[in-house]
Amino acid sequence: MSAGFKFTRALEEQIRHYASFPQTGVSLQQMVQFGSTPSQGVLFKASQFISEELPIRLAHRVKELDELPNQLNEMPSIIKVKNWYAESFQELTSLPKPNLPDDIRKTLKANGNGAPRMADNTPNLIEQETNSSGVSTPRRKSVPLSKRYYGPVQDINWPPEVLSYNEKITKTLTTIKRRHDPLVTTVAQGVLEYKRLRQRSQIDTSIQSFLDRFYMSRIGIRMLIGQHIALNTEPPRPDYVGIICTQTNLKQIAQDAIDNARFICEDHYGLFDAPKVQLICPDELNFMYVPGHLSHMLFEVLKNSLRAVVETHGVDSESFPPIKIIVAEGKEDITIKISDEGGGIPRSAMPLVFTYMYTTAGEQSLDPDFAKSDFKAPMAGFGYGLPLSRLYARYFGGDLKLISMEGYGTDVYLHLNRLSTSREPLP
Ligand code: ADP
Ligand code: MG
Repeated sequence: MSAGFKFTRALEEQIRHYASFPQTGVSLQQMVQFGSTPSQGVLFKASQFISEELPIRLAHRVKELDELPNQLNEMPSIIKVKNWYAESFQELTSLPKPNLPDDIRKTLKANGNGAPRMADNTPNLIEQETNSSGVSTPRRKSVPLSKRYYGPVQDINWPPEVLSYNEKITKTLTTIKRRHDPLVTTVAQGVLEYKRLRQRSQIDTSIQSFLDRFYMSRIGIRMLIGQHIALNTEPPRPDYVGIICTQTNLKQIAQDAIDNARFICEDHYGLFDAPKVQLICPDELNFMYVPGHLSHMLFEVLKNSLRAVVETHGVDSESFPPIKIIVAEGKEDITIKISDEGGGIPRSAMPLVFTYMYTTAGEQSLDPDFAKSDFKAPMAGFGYGLPLSRLYARYFGGDLKLISMEGYGTDVYLHLNRLSTSREPLP
């Protein structure tokens, strides 16, 4: 937290107010349609959208952290996280809006050239209203978001106010993204503090569902921010719109995940050769996705399978049964099945595998250095691999399921929705 930040009464009230507005979900397809011609005018509209939507989402999180039950809201790490959200909220809401000439306002309002429109069923948004003493308060505005901010934009010579506003908000977003990097580990730390205080070994269902909502919201916020920063700062790449790849090649991402997971496995167990992974996947399977999300899920699932195979058959085993990845392409879904012969999971443990911090890899402390970066798990031990991967899958309308045959092995089904029209789940 920067030295200047203070959680004032006024800020608290402003946050409560913003939290009373509904969040607005965006689909993968909308993000792609919108960002495919990122002129300064389009970027300006995106800036306006994010400068209203993000404070609403942040405010919801502050409120939720505040209202956590059983003193979980009083844990030092949880308060720390809450302050990050409040500070980011304050930074965004105190960015001055640009003063635009009338003709530019009109152009921004006009629905000119044929860029695609976003769906119109978005909830009301807020508009700043400044009173005579210069205090601005948001109020409801019943114009669909799509009309106001995601409509098409004519390409003209934008005045310097527009360009500098785009730059300013991108800079602010970069600061915010960095501030929240260690969120997953810090919240995990907060839950550990709570478990210690309450002398619990497992987390209860209310905390589990809080964490699901909280981390899901983080995925959405980071998606919006990441997309915005990429559109504003990165040179256009073929097949990419921001951080979304319209031609994500599944085979290539899977092969990279296999190589990385096997490398970590060899390193961790001191193996010369990790269990083999067979990949059955059409070469030309390309679809629209965020490659980073896909790698994350495959990497986590593969590490689990590798660990199970190595530990079931013994590190000194002459050979290991291979792990099989089969990719199927349907009209609705692309499904990836990862099958291992790693002994499976007892049925009694099945309800636990998707709970945060459930692991059979032994107690692991949260290294403070480790917490500085974003959450990157080693071989195993944090119990975040499966629950977080499932959230990534669900974020774009997919799912992750696990079926085990105790005494034999495990099948993980990763379903990815290829229609990409489903809206973000907004907790
Ligand atoms: P971690 O790997 O850090 O323990 P995960 O969320 O990835 O956390 O997995 C949770 C637990 O689920 C693992 O510790 C393990 O006991 C069990 N598990 C997951 N995948 C498999 C698998 N393929 N075979 C056997 N057990 C598994
Ligand atoms: Mg794991």
